[in-house]
Amino acid sequence: MPQIKAAVCHEFGAPLTVEMVELRAPQTGEVEVKLDAVAICHSDISFADGAWGGSLPAVYGHEAAGIVSAVGGGVTGFNIGDSVIVTLIRACGTCPSCAGGKPTICGTPYDGDKGPLSTTDGGKLHQAMACGAFAEKVVVDQSQIVTIPSDMAKDAAALVSCGVITGVGAVVNAAQMRAGQDVVVIGAGGVGLNAVQGARIAGARRIVAVDMSEEKLEIAKQFGATDGILATNSNPWEAAKQALGRGADAVLVTVGAPQAYTDAPNYLAPGGKVIMVGMPASGAASTYEAGNFASAGQSMVGSKMGDVVIQRDIPWIVDLYGQGRLKLDELISNRWTLEQINEAIADTKTGSAKRNVIIF
Ligand SMILES: [Zn+2]
Ligand SMILES: [Zn+2]
Repeated sequence: MPQIKAAVCHEFGAPLTVEMVELRAPQTGEVEVKLDAVAICHSDISFADGAWGGSLPAVYGHEAAGIVSAVGGGVTGFNIGDSVIVTLIRACGTCPSCAGGKPTICGTPYDGDKGPLSTTDGGKLHQAMACGAFAEKVVVDQSQIVTIPSDMAKDAAALVSCGVITGVGAVVNAAQMRAGQDVVVIGAGGVGLNAVQGARIAGARRIVAVDMSEEKLEIAKQFGATDGILATNSNPWEAAKQALGRGADAVLVTVGAPQAYTDAPNYLAPGGKVIMVGMPASGAASTYEAGNFASAGQSMVGSKMGDVVIQRDIPWIVDLYGQGRLKLDELISNRWTLEQINEAIADTKTGSAKRNVIIF
């Protein structure tokens, strides 16, 4: 079986090990993609730290772009040599969620322990998030990839596959924001900045970014935030309401802090929605007064991966980037080699708003 280089997690909380692994050829409905770039997402770090459990040893990485290098039987619409974005959104196409237009919550389970990866001695190697993209190549289901223009830079393209669609989609698909509405984005990290630019593109009147860091608030303004409020102030929602003149029609929680969820309803206007994007560790809980939601006609909406349909939403996001209307290059803080992945992860953990990208 062909061997590739991958960064493997053997133990939660320990550095990843860059080593040779085996990647079997694509089977029916699958494609092999030779990666040019993979970004490091906070979800990769949460998994590697053990926050969400899961099988070990494992290969993480799920924000990737590259070139189709082999196709299995029954693959339609993709050819060797196509430039593609690889996502973790593996959709069977026929379950009630997929058939109902919600592929991000596909109900058909996928067992990454039985995926295309194995150790060089034939042992189990978990393909995390149906991707395993901290590796030179991936074999994924054809539902997970979208063709992009061959001249689009792959480092920018890789970002689209998770942080960008999650943030932009949370505004456009989950909040169903219409032009003129007011938005609060809690957390100005990778997903938060994309929620900000999603709100800008969708025509928000005011976009208030809330974060613990003054520096991140400044970056959020470059992405379209009209106002920035420090979360370390007491009752920051009062300053947000002052900036808006009212509460927000949509409050997007893009961080995984339980306290952010407890605070989020305080920012809402009557009829407003809290869009729940960030994922606290398993078992973490937040509190809210249910009666307030009933009396003010408010709601909380969970949004996974921006509720996107990748074949519909990635082409327009890529086109907006090409027109200069959606920022991607500005989201990249640094570029690294696969051998430097632990340094890149450490740098990401320092809380930078931007993405570190591994270039192959
Ligand atoms: Zn991600
Ligand atoms: Zn499905």
